[in-house]
Amino acid sequence: MTGARLIVDLGRILANIDTLRERLTPAEVMLVVKNDAYGHGVDAVVTAAARHGVRWFGAFDVPTGLRTRAAAGPEARVFSWATAAPTELESAIHARLDLGVGDPRYLEDVADASAGRGVRVHLKIDTGLHRNGVRPEDWREFTARAAELERAGHIRVVGVWSHLAETSEATDDDARDEYLRAVEDAEAVGLTPEVRHLAASAAAYARSSYHFDLARFGAFGYGIRSAGGEDLPGIVAAAALVAPVTAVRQGAVEVGIGALDGLPSTLAGRVEVGTPAGARLLRAVDDTTLTVDAWSGAAIGDEVVVFGPGSHGEPSATTLAEAIDTVGEEILVRVSPLIPRTYLTP
Ligand SMILES: *Cc1c(COP(=O)(O)O)cnc(C)c1O
Repeated sequence: MTGARLIVDLGRILANIDTLRERLTPAEVMLVVKNDAYGHGVDAVVTAAARHGVRWFGAFDVPTGLRTRAAAGPEARVFSWATAAPTELESAIHARLDLGVGDPRYLEDVADASAGRGVRVHLKIDTGLHRNGVRPEDWREFTARAAELERAGHIRVVGVWSHLAETSEATDDDARDEYLRAVEDAEAVGLTPEVRHLAASAAAYARSSYHFDLARFGAFGYGIRSAGGEDLPGIVAAAALVAPVTAVRQGAVEVGIGALDGLPSTLAGRVEVGTPAGARLLRAVDDTTLTVDAWSGAAIGDEVVVFGPGSHGEPSATTLAEAIDTVGEEILVRVSPLIPRTYLTP
């Protein structure tokens, strides 16, 4: 009997990318692959996406950036925006990562580590999220210093970027205004950033005025719809969590989900999962087993789909998330790395 596994349909990720590209053109799509490609597996996802012509990847931290570089090949642009320790910077520079820089101290660290190698950097303005990024009042001094370091050959400022709060259209519009001022200020000190990028999935999908040169897609690339949002045409879920029935008792079955599966126990009693007979209530979530309402003829080895894109009554990851007030990507990134990923290739 096959155990629990996350079945990832890479063709669906590529189809999502096609949808996003078509919507974005002439702006480009960056596929965000942080958190092990939202649980889908960074190596397989990046390999498939790079072969499909994706040119930009968003890797967050340097270790993910290095894996992304290895899988994507030398031509891809790999953007890593987590502040790296000085000890990590050498490998980041060696791998020719594009570095996101949202802090004056980090700018100096990057320039020091570069020592004349012209590292590509993207300067980050804080447009209201207060989560890394240079405050508008400090921006002029920051960009002036970046221009100096560029003239000295240590860095090359290729991008100016920010991240939206996505709490309302009005706050995002204010953030966009702030962002545009920051780009102008950067140009005023002699910088020539060629990639401007502001939006992630929801805003970039919905609003063309947020595309600029590049948009950073995580959730929609994997077909994870926004919490509270609708299914979107051309965006399809790529991963299904499938697990076998290991015991049948009166009125309920036990499903072996493997060690430390990471599914939130608060889902118990609140959602239905997919079974051969259609949707059934998820009664309990333990470390290694789920308990699900039985169906007639339930047998050991039958398969239950905890979430996914299929047709057995299973919920999407976002539908599970909504039952416990979180977001779909949270469900996916919590699927334990000990649960094997199996890939369907197009
Ligand atoms: C996670 C992340 C994204 C992707 O967000 P989605 O909503 O999943 O598309 C984009 N940009 C930054 C800076 C992020 O941290």
